[in-house]
Amino acid sequence: MTITPCYLFPQLPESLAGLAELAVDLRWSWSHTADTLWQHIAPELWEQTRNPWLILQNVGGNTLQQLAQDQDFIAKLNTFVSEHRDRLAQTCWFSKTYPHPPFSQVAYFSMEFGLSESLPIYSGGLGILAGDCLKTASDLGIPLLGIGMLWQQGYFRQSLDDCGRQIELYPYNDPTQMPVTPVRDASSEWLRLELPFPGRKVILRAWQAQVGRVTLYLLDSNDPLNAPADRGITAELYGGGPETRLQQEICLGVGGWMLLRRLGIQPDICHLNEGHAAFAILARAYSHMQDHGTDFPCALTATRAGNIFTTHTPVSAGFDRFPPELLTRYVAGAPRAFGIDVETILALGRENPEDTREPFNMAWLAIHGSLTVNGVSRLHGAVSRRLFQPLFPRWPEDEVPVTHVTNGVHTPSWDSAEADALWTKHCGKARWLGDLKDIEADFRRTSDEDIWQLRSTARQQVIHFARQRLQKQLAAAHAPDQDCEQAKTALDPNTLTIGFARRFAAYKRPNMLLTDPDRLYRLLNNPHCPVQLLIAGKAHPKDGAGKAMIQQWTQFIHQHPDLAGRMVFIADYDMMVAEQLVQGVDLWINTPLRPWEASGTSGMKVLVNGGLNLSELDGWWAEAYSPETGWALGDSQEHDSDPEWNRLEAEQLYRLLEEEVVPLFYHQRDANGCPCGWINKIRESMSRLTSQFSSNRMLQEYVHSLYAPAARLLAARSERATVDGISRWQHDIRQHWQSLHFGELNVQSDTDTHHFQVHVYLDDLDADAVAVQLFANGDGAQDPKIYAMTRGDALSGAINSYNYTCAVPAHCAVERFTPRIIPHRDGCLVPMESTEILWYR
Ligand SMILES: *Cc1c(COP(=O)(O)O)cnc(C)c1O
Repeated sequence: MTITPCYLFPQLPESLAGLAELAVDLRWSWSHTADTLWQHIAPELWEQTRNPWLILQNVGGNTLQQLAQDQDFIAKLNTFVSEHRDRLAQTCWFSKTYPHPPFSQVAYFSMEFGLSESLPIYSGGLGILAGDCLKTASDLGIPLLGIGMLWQQGYFRQSLDDCGRQIELYPYNDPTQMPVTPVRDASSEWLRLELPFPGRKVILRAWQAQVGRVTLYLLDSNDPLNAPADRGITAELYGGGPETRLQQEICLGVGGWMLLRRLGIQPDICHLNEGHAAFAILARAYSHMQDHGTDFPCALTATRAGNIFTTHTPVSAGFDRFPPELLTRYVAGAPRAFGIDVETILALGRENPEDTREPFNMAWLAIHGSLTVNGVSRLHGAVSRRLFQPLFPRWPEDEVPVTHVTNGVHTPSWDSAEADALWTKHCGKARWLGDLKDIEADFRRTSDEDIWQLRSTARQQVIHFARQRLQKQLAAAHAPDQDCEQAKTALDPNTLTIGFARRFAAYKRPNMLLTDPDRLYRLLNNPHCPVQLLIAGKAHPKDGAGKAMIQQWTQFIHQHPDLAGRMVFIADYDMMVAEQLVQGVDLWINTPLRPWEASGTSGMKVLVNGGLNLSELDGWWAEAYSPETGWALGDSQEHDSDPEWNRLEAEQLYRLLEEEVVPLFYHQRDANGCPCGWINKIRESMSRLTSQFSSNRMLQEYVHSLYAPAARLLAARSERATVDGISRWQHDIRQHWQSLHFGELNVQSDTDTHHFQVHVYLDDLDADAVAVQLFANGDGAQDPKIYAMTRGDALSGAINSYNYTCAVPAHCAVERFTPRIIPHRDGCLVPMESTEILWYR
């Protein structure tokens, strides 16, 4: 749907229409080509907000009239507009790599999207990842769209009272001040959806945000025709009780799918992020029933092939669960509306379908309704296989069908202008737009001087930023004038600067550095090799422990006035603060309790800017760390929340800082004052890790390994007969499995081969519906191995029974092998679609 500038900005003169075109596209949040234009229009507002949309909303008619007369300005504007159009029209990575696209459209569902501070509808990592994903899809030309919610208040904003306690604020997100526009239907009406809720309909309004080539659709319930309570459904992200959360998830999943239908968009891939969006599975299956006249099981079989579930949670407590009675109320209309009985729906959210008291688990629904499931780092993949094991009883944990794609960050959004210039010098302007294979070698040529210059400028800038924020915070907290005056000179541009910013949740252990306050004091206050700290982070409003940890930091700062120039707690951690910190700090510290950090992305954002990481071996760092690129905390093991272990790790953290980090930064300086050892580490970290942990690599991996295969599976199920065949197969397996059994097992060994032979009785099951395998247990040194057994002659005198054989190398002891029977069908995924398994013993 085209956007008419005159509707959005009625006072915009015709010759300035291009401004609306530029402002409406959030591409300005990572491509800074037109920045000078906005700066020219409103220098002060630009400095404060970096938000072209806001500038255009607020600029006065007189200024616009003047600009319309300014031939230079118009010429510049026209150049930017045509550059913008050219760029959008360029052929990109996706169409070059896939001249015959394997899929036509991906719908990326997420509760939150973090694209820019101008659109505050995110809380943390999940949202930032979603935002980075849309930006990257635009860069690479991947046909992807986003589905999310337009939160009226977003996540809370943080300020600190004069005792350093967190105060939560909920400013209203005025849609007219945000870069979103109403979605209009063919007759120019604002598109509204009606969702069936118990006893009423809830109206959702549709909005859109433009992210380069990608569209993000957003829904909100703040329509005057809704009851007041329903208008509040989309008020607070992660606020409210279980029922509100359920309503929000229905709006996202069902509402999101309904919106696509109304727009005539038929995505082949639904990418569901977290269980939050899993109701889209039901809505999609229902549409399939309507379109093809099938029953629900067949519709689910056909459509689930196109659903991909990405889990972002490393602990079972992180999955949303709803009491069955609550869910029942919301799906009670299903038999009429969807032709599905309530129990069928409830069973999809359970581990044990017969247990009617089991809560409804959104992650279980997501798995039961997808064929592809992945975690967000290698370690998180393994952790997720453990968490999801209960859904695949008697299957080895290794074979639980969960893969992983490690997260990445949208590098152009997180690099500083100076870092961008340095990368451009060595790797070219288009470095993040294609494949990434030359980047490492190209960047490694960077000189020590260039790297150190980048770091020194960056440190100065973040200090400038921190001073300004500190002054504002102190003024707001009515601090004495003297303190406000001191804030102007806080921090030092030549001092090792450490950043620590994240959600204050217990598992992140944000107060590890405070374990021994005296030792921290000595570290910061070392006369020859001082250290300064920038800290930021919010605690969830209901997380008392998290808030206490914030206060522990602010009190430490309070109690050591002589450290006032060395430590700043920056309030209201958001994308803007994150951007400043990751661009400026020398070292980024991350102390999660392994394995609670599914991936973590903030540490990836420092890479492109030459910051180094000191992090727990958890999430992404467990696969990124090497001694050449940074520092590792922990021992690669899990220790639960053992206080003794926490103390040992704190000890390790102090020791690393005192004996390795600080000396490397201050010593070994060359004649020009460059710390060579430190710079070598930066060079390794930048050249090896930046592209590897970019969302560019991540999304290419999603396309190759997940989206394209899923689309092929989906296409293979377009025929009714195929789907019926799969359903019958699943049904037969369930019906006959209990009667399957093994007979005699024989093994003969010669010098280098074991010959296995086993009798298998298949009841009434077609022999092609199963596979018989020989499974070799792993031991410490070797992974488990699976060999296919070959079906031989039917056993004489027995019905539907066969001899299966297999020859394997004799270097493993016979005792390690066990025959097993599993369901099998071409084009189907086992155990995802049929979880039975029968072991010989
Ligand atoms: C990147 C980012 C996050 C995610 O960081 P973690 O590594 O998960 O701590 C959270 N909040 C903001 C504002 C971010 O920019």
